[in-house]
Amino acid sequence: MKISRRTLLKFTGGAVAVISFLPRTALAARNSLRTVRTGVQPGNKTRLVIETSQRPSYTITYPTNQIIVTLANTSANTSLSPSLASGTLVKSVTQAQVGDKLQIIANLSKPVNSIPKDQIMVLSPNGDNDYRLVLDFVAGQSVAAATSTKKTEGKTTPAKKYTIVIDAGHGGKDPGCIGKAGTKEKTVVLAVAKKLKTKLDAAGFNTYLTRSNDTYLKLAQRASIGEKKHADLFLSLHANANPSRSMKGFSIYTLSEKASDEEAKKLADAENAADKIDVSGFEQFDKDIRVALSALQQHAVAEMSVEYANSCAKQLKSMKITQQPGPDVRHAPFAVLRSTVPGALIELGHLSNATEEKLLTTASHQNKLVDAIVKSVKSYNFDV
Ligand SMILES: [Zn+2]
Repeated sequence: MKISRRTLLKFTGGAVAVISFLPRTALAARNSLRTVRTGVQPGNKTRLVIETSQRPSYTITYPTNQIIVTLANTSANTSLSPSLASGTLVKSVTQAQVGDKLQIIANLSKPVNSIPKDQIMVLSPNGDNDYRLVLDFVAGQSVAAATSTKKTEGKTTPAKKYTIVIDAGHGGKDPGCIGKAGTKEKTVVLAVAKKLKTKLDAAGFNTYLTRSNDTYLKLAQRASIGEKKHADLFLSLHANANPSRSMKGFSIYTLSEKASDEEAKKLADAENAADKIDVSGFEQFDKDIRVALSALQQHAVAEMSVEYANSCAKQLKSMKITQQPGPDVRHAPFAVLRSTVPGALIELGHLSNATEEKLLTTASHQNKLVDAIVKSVKSYNFDV
């Protein structure tokens, strides 16, 4: 079973009832509740995430139409005011402080008999998140029974496979930018994309290339491959050109309909211009996807994308790869990133800079870029 955080939505409003049986000051709880959230997972599973400041110690019980998670030595979060993602089994969530224990009570629209052990996990802090207790469940039967077609090899089951779609920018009649020595962006990024695929495959990921040869693809067509493969992450690889030949370094972008700066806007215009080469169409896909995504989902996808992009910038810098001056992550309306899949557009370097043009064609530098990106993918938290 694939567990992905891409459909997970955070609470944005509403109210949660807090029932205190003892004054909070009387407690010496070491752990404390940060937040509770729900989302819909592939296979129509509901995910409940309980975030706490420390690693949670917990028990779970299943009264009729409820899941009660009892957290040992934990204090309530009285300021928590969640509402729940639609389409989940969870109607409401309440907190009840019982001595030094905190009960998180999920009231359900249908009963859940029990949650199998392999559908419960505790994740360590990552980025903005603290410890997370993650429960995946379906109504009635257990999730394991509901997905009995999957192989059950117990402890020997390999880690969950996440799907990465790697998009080598440009191709075919669209060369992308061209260096002074004649290096074409489409060629460099394809070479890096292929190496990246090989290494990510070896690291246990499921990877797909949007193109594996010198062909032209519309931007929305590339994005739609991410959708069709149910990708967990979409990486679009490019190389940059700048009127200033001294400008060099990598830069990373995520999707935003409003550009973070003028330079990012210009870059998005330049990259989006690839579509003007061929007018035949995937434009509708673009519109459909945006309509299908709620504002909340768009926000969640954007958040995950920025999280990934930050870690990618960090890894590239740690490999001593030159970074273009400016922030680690910029935002602009890149058409290729318009989908429900979190992702980033990575400008690997500047073909307009003679030194970097040469560097980008060498296997050693390409490998360095690939190693950094592989590290960033490995460290990305796909789960919650
Ligand atoms: Zn490009």
